[in-house]
Amino acid sequence: MAPRTRFAPSPTGFLHVGGVRTALYNWLVARQAQGAFILRIEDTDAARNREEWVEGIFDSMRWIGLDWDELYRQSERGALYVDAAAKLEASGLAYWCDCAREAVDARAAARKGPPGYDGFCRERGLGPGEGRALRFRPPDEGATIVPDVIRGAPSFDHATLDDPVIVRSSGDPMFVLANVVDDLDMRITHVIRGEEHLPTTPKYLLLWDALGGGEHPTFAHVPVLVNEKRQKLSKRRDPVALEQYRDEGYLPEVMLNYLALLGWSSPDGEEKLTVEDMLANFRIEDVGNSPAFFDVAKLRAFNGDAIRALSSDEFIARAAPWLEAPHAPWEPEAFDAVAFARLAPLVQERVFRLAEVTAMVDFVFLEEAPVDEGSWIKAMKPHASALLDAVIAAYEICPWEAEHLKAALIEAGEGLELKLKVAQAPVRVAVTGRTVGPPLFESLEVMGREGVLTRLRDARGRL
Ligand code: GLU
Repeated sequence: MAPRTRFAPSPTGFLHVGGVRTALYNWLVARQAQGAFILRIEDTDAARNREEWVEGIFDSMRWIGLDWDELYRQSERGALYVDAAAKLEASGLAYWCDCAREAVDARAAARKGPPGYDGFCRERGLGPGEGRALRFRPPDEGATIVPDVIRGAPSFDHATLDDPVIVRSSGDPMFVLANVVDDLDMRITHVIRGEEHLPTTPKYLLLWDALGGGEHPTFAHVPVLVNEKRQKLSKRRDPVALEQYRDEGYLPEVMLNYLALLGWSSPDGEEKLTVEDMLANFRIEDVGNSPAFFDVAKLRAFNGDAIRALSSDEFIARAAPWLEAPHAPWEPEAFDAVAFARLAPLVQERVFRLAEVTAMVDFVFLEEAPVDEGSWIKAMKPHASALLDAVIAAYEICPWEAEHLKAALIEAGEGLELKLKVAQAPVRVAVTGRTVGPPLFESLEVMGREGVLTRLRDARGRL
């Protein structure tokens, strides 16, 4: 049977890189075997969901290239969950409960046991009504084994499972019910998801059986992502939103490649992988079960390598969004594509993320050099006035080509007993505003004599 996998995000925030990795593994399993990859928006919790997060999921998935064959939204499927809940109630596997959370907690504290529900309403025979939730009743005895291709077969004693709420007192279905009902209805063959869901999987399987689901899906609970301190990535502390990486100018194919390696490696150990490589070699069984380090420095290095591997034309095309509003600080008509194309190969050698392109070339298109005070103070030492005078004089007449511009600056520096590195700093800051950037003399050549002289004179005047 061809696999049917699903990615089932809850739209409660930006799409998390860990979620994207889960989506990728699901996508690979489906695409490798001509199966179907389903995107299911788990939006039953109206209080926590926002439509813009749903749009964000679609945008992020499209950007990174994970296309889906079927799309569902749980908020449109309420009737199915109501039916399933009625079925469970009719077969005596679910019961109504009117315990407030405080009462549940107070009883747990009084019995000095673990927190959680104690089955108080199991035999009370309550019917539906205001303030009442429907609970599922797992068996008291025995255990459920979760066969998991990554984690072996962890076993969960039924005595440790409390009776989960499956329909809230508001009438809305709970996650665990909607999740199982949909996996059944959508004939999901592989449940590949984050390991945080493993503890509820026994309830999932008991519900699956109670609803007459037949053969179980294959489970794979993929490991959490951690930061350099081995802490679980958190959206409050760590950069986790895929959109953030997109906006910083990571290439989508690099993100996909890097995410694939979080918990999995190619059999030959190769790290730079295309989608075709992943499709050929990925096996969900080979995913490891220990936390995976999301190493932003490594990702950045990968991205830099990939940027350098682009053809010059591709680089120019990919950089284009960062040369426009809202990224670009210059007037749109000031942009000169020919000038950019001349600088592009130099910039391509130096950036790790496409967002860095803007600040590397802004000096060409801005009316004035974007001088920051720190760079100015660093570069404009006491020798700067004499140096700028000499350079201005030389640049008024020398041929306007990088090698001549360099030779003239060396000569001006020598006259003041300054090494090239020291001598070029005031010129660089006067013209580009910064102490770092693309190679100076090529930059001057691209800017043209008039523009360069104007800035050098302005800087000299300021000193
Ligand atoms: N909606 C769940 C989440 O966002 C995923 C559930 C699942 O994959 O089974 O964590």
